[in-house]
Amino acid sequence: MKLSRQFTVFGSAIFCVVVFSLYLMLDHIDHSKNPNGERIQKVSTVLRLSIHYHLERLLAENNEIIGNIRDSVINLRETVKDGKMFPEGNMSQGDLELLPPAPALLPIHSEDCQFAARTYSKAADGVQMLDVYDLLSFDNPDGGVWKQGFDISYQDNEWDNEPLQVFVVPHSHNDPGWLKTFDDYYRDQTQHILNNMVVKLHEDSRRKMIWSEISYFSKWWDNIDEQKRDAVRRLIESGQLEVATGGWVMPDEANTHYFALIDQLVEGHQWLERNLGVKPKTGWAVDPFGHTPTQAYLLRQAGLSNMLIQRVHYSVKKHFASQKTLEFFWRQNWDQDSSSDILCHMMPFYSYDVPHTCGPDPKICCQFDFKRLPGGRISCPWRIPPQAITDNNVQERAQTLLDQYRKKSKLFRTNVLLAPLGDDFRYTEAVEWDQQFENYQKLFDYMNSHPELHVQAQFGTISDYFEALRKSTGMDPVGMNVGQLALPVLSGDFFTYADRDDHYWSGYFTSRPFYKRLDRVLESHLRAAEVLYSLTLANIQKYGQPNDYPAVDNYKLLTEARRNLGLFQHHDAITGTGKDWVVVDYGTRLFHSILNVKRVIVSSAHWLVLKDKQTYYHDPSNPVLQMDDVQPAQDALPRKIIFEFFTVPRLLVVYNPTEQARMSMVTVYVTTPKVRVLNAVGHVVRAQVSAVWNDLMVFIPRQLSFVAQAAPLGLSVYQLMEGMEPRTEAAKYMILQDGRQISISELEHFQQFYQQDAAPVHIENPHLKLSISTATGLLEKMSLKEDDSEHLIKVEFVWYGTTSNKDKSGAYLFLPDKEATIYSPSQPPVVRVTKGPLFSEVTTTFTHITHTLRLYNIQGVEGQSVEICNTVDIRGETNHEIAMRITSDLNSKDRFFTDLNGYQVQPRKTLAKLPLQANFYPMTSMVYLQDSSARLSLLTAQSLGAASLKSGQLEVIMDRRLNQDDNRGLGQGVLDNKITANSFRLLLEKRSSAEETFLKMLLNHNSHCNSGVAPYSYPSILSHMSYMYLNHPLISMAVSQRSESPSLTPYSPLSASFPCDMHLVNLRAIQSKVPALILHRKGFDCGFSNRNTALLCTTTRGKVKQITRLPTHRHTSLIYRGVAYISPKDCLTWLWG
Ligand SMILES: [Zn+2]
Repeated sequence: MKLSRQFTVFGSAIFCVVVFSLYLMLDHIDHSKNPNGERIQKVSTVLRLSIHYHLERLLAENNEIIGNIRDSVINLRETVKDGKMFPEGNMSQGDLELLPPAPALLPIHSEDCQFAARTYSKAADGVQMLDVYDLLSFDNPDGGVWKQGFDISYQDNEWDNEPLQVFVVPHSHNDPGWLKTFDDYYRDQTQHILNNMVVKLHEDSRRKMIWSEISYFSKWWDNIDEQKRDAVRRLIESGQLEVATGGWVMPDEANTHYFALIDQLVEGHQWLERNLGVKPKTGWAVDPFGHTPTQAYLLRQAGLSNMLIQRVHYSVKKHFASQKTLEFFWRQNWDQDSSSDILCHMMPFYSYDVPHTCGPDPKICCQFDFKRLPGGRISCPWRIPPQAITDNNVQERAQTLLDQYRKKSKLFRTNVLLAPLGDDFRYTEAVEWDQQFENYQKLFDYMNSHPELHVQAQFGTISDYFEALRKSTGMDPVGMNVGQLALPVLSGDFFTYADRDDHYWSGYFTSRPFYKRLDRVLESHLRAAEVLYSLTLANIQKYGQPNDYPAVDNYKLLTEARRNLGLFQHHDAITGTGKDWVVVDYGTRLFHSILNVKRVIVSSAHWLVLKDKQTYYHDPSNPVLQMDDVQPAQDALPRKIIFEFFTVPRLLVVYNPTEQARMSMVTVYVTTPKVRVLNAVGHVVRAQVSAVWNDLMVFIPRQLSFVAQAAPLGLSVYQLMEGMEPRTEAAKYMILQDGRQISISELEHFQQFYQQDAAPVHIENPHLKLSISTATGLLEKMSLKEDDSEHLIKVEFVWYGTTSNKDKSGAYLFLPDKEATIYSPSQPPVVRVTKGPLFSEVTTTFTHITHTLRLYNIQGVEGQSVEICNTVDIRGETNHEIAMRITSDLNSKDRFFTDLNGYQVQPRKTLAKLPLQANFYPMTSMVYLQDSSARLSLLTAQSLGAASLKSGQLEVIMDRRLNQDDNRGLGQGVLDNKITANSFRLLLEKRSSAEETFLKMLLNHNSHCNSGVAPYSYPSILSHMSYMYLNHPLISMAVSQRSESPSLTPYSPLSASFPCDMHLVNLRAIQSKVPALILHRKGFDCGFSNRNTALLCTTTRGKVKQITRLPTHRHTSLIYRGVAYISPKDCLTWLWG
């Protein structure tokens, strides 16, 4: 294989996962011991064992990327020896002491832009979901027995030449928490299901079963003996039991971030590899409330060939059924060829329960759910009960069931039919196994022994079904061999889900927002801990002496945190659709894991910054480093710790979790305004002291803010000393109520300033100027200093009520009464304006919201957007939802854009033919709208529901309080609201010249003439970076006061920043020692300014540099075991060595 060839990396939405020892990355290689060739050979051997078809290419590309990254890595020893982050030459530039100056213009080359600028053409038999939404009328006529469909008829002789092949797939849907907690479900149901499974499957080798939630499976595994484990292994080997998907949970697909989606999939797959040695082939997602192509992509890259989805809008299902497009290859919007394709089956009917899976008529199908036999605990709501199968009725029963199978089969293109057989927590009791399996076997035996019926029916696993399907169409068993197929290619997503009438499931995009935020807090802390843990192990390996670092304990804490985070990705957890006490259970798990990963962070950071490693000690009850904030309870907002210092200086360690060098604000609470901040080389850093307010009172402590500079993934060290310091300046204040200025007498250290009453308040920084109403404290105008342009951008809050109809809004559903009404508080709000050298802000306190707009006086990323924080409290309300509305003068018409899972952007179109609630979409990381000259983006630190109901307008639901159940099984309203803090960044960007844009639009228009909407869009590089900064803030830790100050030195593992468009998703230790490096190369739109970003990274220029030397390591073979691979085109390929 040639390693020297240059190749083009098509970068966007591409994951790159490399697994290699960090030791490799950090160490200088001893090439004499391990010549490069040897490693390549070893790797190749391992790779050839795998079955993937372009591994050879993958490997070459991987090695180039690894090499490229390695090039940006320096020897740790040098850093430790010097005790300095950057070379001496760059140390004396005022506030830029540590980081070298950034170029005024971020160099971007045309190759960088190729990915985003490409136009895509739909495959000939292609289905684009945006077109489908344009096409459908969304009427809801009564379809007869199949209420949301149509009458299905067939000819008796249709199967004469090729018999119908039926796979009845027994399944049990086990929610890891919903009406009961995870542990209670396990105790009451799940363990019995799994125990009975072992017995009942062994009774008859024709019986089959599938399982998907590894969270439950692993818990059960820990509780069974070796004999039972062997029995399970035999069932798996014989193909009677199949693990489908194999994630920790069946995740929600709307609110989940791809970091957590990958993490829970890796956790499940790693468990399966370790304990059962199996690799899932097929995805199974019957219950998530709408489906995302991101999950399809991740499954494909994790080596799955097939997948199944269920909860899709009933009109879309009906349309697909009529077109026979319920089975398709799901392709990413941005994919130009077939490399992301995965074969997908969409279930046609209302539900995954037995009445809705055998065929179109639930009244008939219910009679074939033998758990509902008379005398049992459940019955058929259609009032015709099942009959046990006997010699007397088998003929009639078999014919009745076959009629349903045949009708269902008419909705698909092949003679292979899938009939799932199960429901929530089914197969708990032995008798239920007998009822289902014995009665169905009698039906199958009858059908199969009557050739005139032309049917072959049997139990099967989901992969048995797909295997037969592929065989019948001439596809290879795993490949994506589209050419020979009569199956269409589909691109797009399946939001927003409606199961009936106008019941759109857009409420859960926001329900329980406190925990949606807490999820992201754990994600960012877990990532920081994983990275620091891996860096520490590498550093220790280098240091080579026994020490006190708690590697094993920390790994346990990380594992537990991964599993708690994984559990929360479940479709009744992050969605906010569990019972109150189940929410508390999840919240407690997240809360404990946040505490635990913080322990990993401080113990690892301590090691890395310690000058003399011999002095390291680990005392978990009294750690040397202390986090700067603490969350007092699972349902409380975090509080800042107050740092005291007397005569000795206090050391502050600041961790940069991003892989690019960075300047960001750090704020800590201190007891005195007289503070001096020094950086690692002893220079005094400019600082701002601000007041801490409670209503109109000022209290001790003070907020101390300064701009910290940190190397990529590095740890900086600052000193806080008591004493007067001219470079530490106090903020000034103006307080307004009802447009009038209020004078505060007790301001102590701080001064008030005044301005003319009528004028709006202005706050500004080098990039932006905001104009804010003195009466409401809300934004009215925003000016970009770059071109002196002013935009009307108005922030408002609005209320939604719920409909007066029988069905009302609840945890799942959003059923508003009418358009929103403007929030107008009974009392005029108090508006507090802060002006200071480092940041200025306006905080407005309404009855239900405390709204803060903040501008950082920092050049570059942090200064280019407005920070918005809304602390919301609607605990006193009844059936109300509160939203933030941003109205701009951008002419966006009915178009806007929301991200999917923080991974890709999906263009949206607000449709007048749909009800208001149908036009809300999940916003995981951002929403934006644009016209030919500008783009307005709202970046978010938590998932919420968003819409653009009018041209130029964005709306985000902040919290919802609902007094009733919405009839989807939860059996309660949402009344456990918390005081919730939602954080955002508002970013206004100029688009490139009208000519270019026009050309682009023309191109896009031609290739997508049906809808006129290109099915893809990309954030700018600034938007990507701003999102990163928002979601991964600097982490500051202070050296605890009781100890003698240890000698600390900055830590900087990389010699340079990662490319700006390359994101280190995770550096995750696998089986405690071997780290998996997960990279994501982000596509970005070049049609935006690259001026004054202050970024110290470069872009990959669409190419990965030719490498000259490869890293080598003695543990090569270990490294490549059971983990994933990078490739610029198809990465995340799982290998099982
Ligand atoms: Zn479920």
